[in-house]
Amino acid sequence: MKYTEQEIEKIVQEVVKHAILNDGNNALKQDISVAETPANNDMQMCDQEGVFNKMSDAIDAAHNTYLTFGNYSMKDRQRFVDAIKRLTLDEKHKLARMVVDETNLGNYEDKILKHELAAMTYGTEILYTSSKTGDTGLSLIEMAPFGVIGATTPVTNPTETIINNSISMIAAGNTVVFNAHPSSKNVCAYLVDRINKVIQEVGGPANIITMVREPSMESLNEMSQSPKINLLVGTGGPGLVRALLKSGKKAIGAGAGNPPVVVDETAIIPKAAKDIIAGHSFDNNIVCILEKEVFVVDRVANELIENMKQNGAFYITKEQTDKLVDLVLEADSGTNPTGCSFQNRKLHIKKQWVGKDAYKYLEQIGVTFSSKPKCIICEVDFNHPFVQLELLMPILPIVRVQNVDEGINLAVKAEHGNRHTAMMHSQNISNISKFAKAINTTIFVKNAPSLAGIGVNSESVISFTIAGPTGEGITTAKTFTRARHCVLVDGFRII
Ligand code: NAD
Repeated sequence: MKYTEQEIEKIVQEVVKHAILNDGNNALKQDISVAETPANNDMQMCDQEGVFNKMSDAIDAAHNTYLTFGNYSMKDRQRFVDAIKRLTLDEKHKLARMVVDETNLGNYEDKILKHELAAMTYGTEILYTSSKTGDTGLSLIEMAPFGVIGATTPVTNPTETIINNSISMIAAGNTVVFNAHPSSKNVCAYLVDRINKVIQEVGGPANIITMVREPSMESLNEMSQSPKINLLVGTGGPGLVRALLKSGKKAIGAGAGNPPVVVDETAIIPKAAKDIIAGHSFDNNIVCILEKEVFVVDRVANELIENMKQNGAFYITKEQTDKLVDLVLEADSGTNPTGCSFQNRKLHIKKQWVGKDAYKYLEQIGVTFSSKPKCIICEVDFNHPFVQLELLMPILPIVRVQNVDEGINLAVKAEHGNRHTAMMHSQNISNISKFAKAINTTIFVKNAPSLAGIGVNSESVISFTIAGPTGEGITTAKTFTRARHCVLVDGFRII
């Protein structure tokens, strides 16, 4: 008797399903109730591996893969993760170029570093089993996968987030469906294809990560509602995080930030200025953790500004700042404006000005310069929209304060309760502790650029998904596991 490829696929699925059901120890058993997925051949994959025309097919394919993923060992998972890391380092230049060309955000050189960072994401080495023994026996706590994760990625770090999330989530034993930001869909599809191929080259299954070719709010909604998705992870702005939290599913939300910097009179000012400009101007400021506004004690403000200029910042006057406001911000339309109040208007950012090179803003407002600056600095009041809005542009507003307490108070307000990231430059441990406690952010960096918060020249951990609102913090493979307790009550002990 001859079988078609489709029939063979279905038979294999049935065999795998029964093998899993008959294995009482298998963690996949719980998911079989929703395992009625079509065979992969019925799905409309594009000409790229893991990229599907319909979200339902992307979900089914990742779900099918998950059903057998438990058969792979931790060593296998690490091999897949290593393949992603190698691919990232091999293709970092190409990916950086493709991201800049498609999104028109940030700059090529910094994106290369971002890919190097993504390749440093922890794999299985961060997962461990803990145990407790006592008079009544032994208890093991193991880190099990969630299942199929639905992950949404931002336009500001599109490929970096897919690499970082894929490494963490696969190391933890999950498969992943991505809903990429529509303005980065081509480079994301390219990457999903390449990741699937390199994983298969080292003996892994197909469709370990998938995505929909034309991502949209509708496809995101479909992903959030699907019973085959066990966990939602959203990296993006506040609208996305709110939408995921309303889904009724377990959701990890990595939302917006507006990281303030406080500089007090004890800071080593030349170093503070250098660090602030290095962090702020990275990738034209489109990364969520980067310095967005500075509060500096008046006594050292002039020295800080002079040192910033020496490190590539371009200082603009009040009149030029007003012109810049008109260039990069616009009034909210509609009857219920939500932006930042300024001069009797409610303002929000013009998306077309996010993440451009600093000199382009200067050109537009008619300011001449001798060499291309890294960023623009200006002096403003606390209520200025450049302080209040998350600009994601190389424009750094500076607010003078009378003393450190005023600086801390205003910085806490400017962070808007995002609980994301804050920086301080100070040699006074009491001031540092006071600010760290008051601002209560997920990442707090002292006497270094913000990038130290995600492992650049520091002992911190790299991630492109910093879960402030939902509290998981800097996400790693550990974040994407479920704690499962195995309890043995027979007095087994070796002491
Ligand atoms: P964005 O919120 O516009 O888009 C992110 C994703 O969410 C996209 O796929 C988009 O289609 C979707 N989306 C947007 N609004 C939505 C809504 N109302 N409902 C459902 N889905 C929605 O964000 P972006 O411009 O791509 O990225 C920049 C933002 O992301 C900034 O606010 C930045 O701070 C934040 N961000 C946070 C982290 C973090 O780790 N916390 C990392 C990167 C970016």
